Amino acid sequence: MGKSMNRPLRHPKDFVQAGLVAPEWETALEQVTENFVAALPDELRSSIDLSNPDDPVAKQFVPDPQELHILPEEYEDPIGDNPFTPIKGITHRYPDRLLLKPVHVCPAYCRFCFRREKVGSGSETLTSQEMEAALDYIRQHPEVWEVILSGGDPFLLSKRRLASIIEALDAMEHVEVIRIHTRVPVVSPSTIDMDFVQVLKVPTPVYVILHCNHPQELSNAAQSACAQMSDVGIPLLSQTVLLRGINDTPEVMERLLRQLTRLRIKPYYLHHPDLAQGTSHFRVSIAEGQALMQTLRGRISGLCLPTYILDIPGGYGKVPIGPNYLLPSGEPANHNTYLVTDVQGRQHTYSPGASPKHPCFSDLQSKDSK
Ligand code: SF4
Repeated sequence: MGKSMNRPLRHPKDFVQAGLVAPEWETALEQVTENFVAALPDELRSSIDLSNPDDPVAKQFVPDPQELHILPEEYEDPIGDNPFTPIKGITHRYPDRLLLKPVHVCPAYCRFCFRREKVGSGSETLTSQEMEAALDYIRQHPEVWEVILSGGDPFLLSKRRLASIIEALDAMEHVEVIRIHTRVPVVSPSTIDMDFVQVLKVPTPVYVILHCNHPQELSNAAQSACAQMSDVGIPLLSQTVLLRGINDTPEVMERLLRQLTRLRIKPYYLHHPDLAQGTSHFRVSIAEGQALMQTLRGRISGLCLPTYILDIPGGYGKVPIGPNYLLPSGEPANHNTYLVTDVQGRQHTYSPGASPKHPCFSDLQSKDSK
């Protein structure tokens, strides 16, 4: 195999030459990639079935002219990072945790990326001085209990640079948990080797959250990359984006969630797709997402089930969006009575009677009334 065969596909002509894009699309795709960077590493390309026009890996990473269709309701910063950026590389939205974003590059660019306006830009990557300033910010905020390395993909950093960041965080007494969000184990699994895994072994617990959306991403190489981390005791969780035509059926989602769980990766979040620019072709409705979750609850072990969440546009954070199984009965006389829906959709009344007053609660009430 020639050396060029190992280079990631980046330009529309590369995708055309690889048989992933029809030649007549090339011009439109030049406009797409001017706005939203593209890359598809060789390792990931090998898992694409060229005979399948709806290949779920190709659909996630091959640029598409539909991305030029930008709707008025779409945002440049869909989850509202900017207002919570006190210093370059830090997003501090909640008191006890923050995001540290050392790089804004990824080995492969998801076509629905929620940070697509920022990723791919080398200028967003922190210099050594900027990184030191970001670490200082964390040192000066003792309320920060958890640091989430995100980006971009932090696993793209050199082992030496990643180790220096993890060691600096490990040395901060108030930082009790380090979390790393990555797609590298599925899109570029050869990056993970025993030396790399050693970088993650520090006294402060390091959790790795794998972004994975379809069972086809879990190649043998990806499975072995994840196993190397699990085998040394790194807890793995997953986050999945719900995507139209890729994983929005119970069959595909069930396969994905079962396989992740079998690989010792606990499904953590199912993200409702964000209102990122040029991504409407990927979006499902919330009603469709809730129906999918309801079907899955009756079908698969609770261990496999993620929380279905929405990142509220404007930076208001993530909330679970159901489905809701419990509703007040609606009868004013029975304010402690609920209607509960079971997994078959049947409704039941839950009426535990008046709650006995807990002594602590009575204490609080009497203090309040003083
Ligand atoms: S891995 Fe994450 S940051 Fe990178 S392109 Fe995909 S969604 Fe965006």
